[in-house]
Formats: sequence, C-alpha cells, structure tokens
Amino acid sequence: MVGTKMRTAIYPGSFDPVTNGHLDLIHRAARLFDRVIVAVACNESKEPLFSMEERQKMLKEATASLSNVETDTFTGLLVDYVDRRNGDAIIRGLRAVSDFEFEFQLALMNRKLNSRVETIFMMPKETYVFLSSKIVKEIARLGGNIECFVPANVRKELLEKFAKSSR
Ligand code: ADP
Repeated sequence: MVGTKMRTAIYPGSFDPVTNGHLDLIHRAARLFDRVIVAVACNESKEPLFSMEERQKMLKEATASLSNVETDTFTGLLVDYVDRRNGDAIIRGLRAVSDFEFEFQLALMNRKLNSRVETIFMMPKETYVFLSSKIVKEIARLGGNIECFVPANVRKELLEKFAKSSR
C-alpha cells in the first residue's frame, strides 16, 4: 500500500477454545481492517483447558482462509502488546448486557494506559449471542453435540481432550 497507512486491529482473548462466535467477529473485523491479529492472551488466573500453543493452533487452522488475519500469543499488558504490533484498535465482542460492564471498564482502563489505542465493540450474528467457550466446554464434557458452535478442528480437539480425561 503506497501513501496510505495500513490499519491493524488486534483481537485479544482467551480463545479457550475459539468458537463460531469469535470467528463471526474475526470475519467482520477482517472486512473493516487491512490486517487483523488474533492474539491469545496468557491469563494464568483463568486455568485454561488448552495450552496457549493449542489455542493458537486451533485459531490458525480456523482462520486459514482469511488472508489478512494472523494469529499470535502475548503475555503482559494488552496495550503494550498493541504498541509493539503497531495496532490501531482493539476489537472486543459484546454479546449481551452482561458483557457490557466489564468490557466498558476494560476499554476505559486501556485508554487510560494508552490514549492512542481505541477499542471497537462488535456484535455477533444473533445465533451466536449466547455462545461462549465456557458453555461449549461444558456441553462437550457432558457428551452433547457441539457441531454448530465450533469449527470442525476444534470439535475434534475437544472430543480428544475429554476422551483422554475420562480414561
Ligand atoms: P476473554 O477471556 O478475553 O473474555 P474470550 O475468548 O472469552 O476471552 O473472549 C474474547 C472476546 O470475544 C471478548 O470480547 C468476548 O466478549 C468476545 N466473545 C466471546 N464469545 C463471543 C460470541 N459468541 N460473540 C461475540 N463475541 C464473543
């Protein structure tokens, strides 16, 4: 691109694992920005089911068809990571009113820490409004059908994970 600045969005999250709700947002962001970096956060306090590497691998496979989307992992403060990657905006998802309070607090805190970075909220397709990684893991653990909630590669990994833990 000559003369115009490339616009980069960073979409951070736990992605433990990535769901069709996350993917809906990634597709929307990829249409708005020149480059989207989906960044798996290291959040020790959340005790994830999948390691950072496993989560990134699943994301990478699920976004392979999107040429302007890349995946990464990061530790430490999100705003510092956004600076390192020359990000212009942080993408976050809003599903319901319940997401709002925490996301609002997070966005304003990030602005306080780095006033250059904007947070952009996106809403998923209605079908995915009630979808979360936590619910998907619970359904998979109990042997329910998660086909319409996650991409095929994630379904496979979840089935393997729970088959191992019940052995
Ligand atoms: P975090 O631990 O950062 O909340 P998540 O992976 O749970 O990580 O979510 C990352 C972002 O994606 C959050 O902004 C969350 O609100 C959003 N998100 C998660 N699931 C959905 C969904 N089904 N539809 C839209 N946004 C979602």
